[in-house]
Amino acid sequence: MAASKPLPEGLQLQTLAVREAEAKSQFGENSEALYLTSSFVQPDAATAARRFAGEEDGYIYSRFTNPTVASMEQRLAALEGTEACMGTSSGMSAILLMCMGLLKAGDHVVCSQSVFGSTIKLIAGEFGKFGVESTFVSQTDVAAWQAAIKPNTKLLFAETPTNPLTEVCDIAALADVAHKAGAWLAVDNCFCSPALQQPAKLGADLIIHSGTKYLDGQGRVVAGAICCSQQLIDERFMPVMRSAGMSLSPFNAWVVLKGLETLSIRMKAQSENAMALATWLEAHPQVARVYYPGLKSHPQHDLALRQQSGLGGAVLSFDVKAQGPEQSRQKAFHVIDHTQVMSITANLGDTKTTITHPASTSHGRLTEVQRQAAGIGQGLIRVAVGLEHIDDLKVDLARGLDTLA
Ligand SMILES: *Cc1c(COP(=O)(O)O)cnc(C)c1O
Repeated sequence: MAASKPLPEGLQLQTLAVREAEAKSQFGENSEALYLTSSFVQPDAATAARRFAGEEDGYIYSRFTNPTVASMEQRLAALEGTEACMGTSSGMSAILLMCMGLLKAGDHVVCSQSVFGSTIKLIAGEFGKFGVESTFVSQTDVAAWQAAIKPNTKLLFAETPTNPLTEVCDIAALADVAHKAGAWLAVDNCFCSPALQQPAKLGADLIIHSGTKYLDGQGRVVAGAICCSQQLIDERFMPVMRSAGMSLSPFNAWVVLKGLETLSIRMKAQSENAMALATWLEAHPQVARVYYPGLKSHPQHDLALRQQSGLGGAVLSFDVKAQGPEQSRQKAFHVIDHTQVMSITANLGDTKTTITHPASTSHGRLTEVQRQAAGIGQGLIRVAVGLEHIDDLKVDLARGLDTLA
């Protein structure tokens, strides 16, 4: 007995974010149930046989199906505007699942050179070992993506805005390049989340999420997801999930499910805080440059506002004024170490503001030459803005900025 009323068609994102889920249990719980179980009891042997053969719907085993995970998947798919979604144990395992499902030896991937560092290591390093070729191109140069296409190109992979320089790529233009080449376009939508940006509406075939970031939104769990068509899930991803098991735990799925309920208001409030902080930083005499899509000075400002619901997102970076790498690093450390509110951590997507020095943390494994090429200098500081009061955040950064020699 399903105790839920079916949802009407045409609901807005904010409504889907709190309402879309699996049917309620016979108890009629208002908050979605957490099904902490590894397996599901079958009514009889014949039903079990039909369910294992895929001839009848029904939960079997939580490596590949669980009602709490299904609720999270249905809700996230509804927000992204895709037919389906598959939850995974982390953002990286979502990318692993995608590449395992779509690629084979001899295939070629074109990827932005500014994507998350582990993504580059996974595609170029791990998949390189199995004979998948890859080419890394400029995030913002559509002609470079086009020029990198080969007859064996199967997948284009972008992330927008990027970490930490917030470079924005044109999703619709890249979808066009991909589809003319008979390839898929995947977009890592971690920084904007579907509350600000829905890549599927711009032509992306697959949307990758690190649920660890804004979807959970409060820094509690590691989680991931792929949003795409039902056909890709059935034909490409479910077989890999059943065999390889990069499964999302029901508990983590439940935390993300509840996080999605406040996603819109968090993204809006955190973007507004980030915009105010970016504007304030741009006017500060000790700041050389601010990277934030909401600022007019950002090279892809117009594109970003069009593509991101008029908001810049919650991540910004800035360079402190300094001479040479040594002094830049020392001044950046001074600013970071004088904060008393912000958390010094490389994570992002939390209600707590985080501050980090990319050159010595997330991008610390690159050589100085690679870092220079990526535009990540020793004076660069990244702030992922949370929900604290904006005045407290300004004072926190001013403590260090105002005392720079
Ligand atoms: C954090 C992050 C990932 C990886 O996600 P995990 O959940 O940490 O595995 C992928 N892409 C982007 C843009 C990220 O910020």
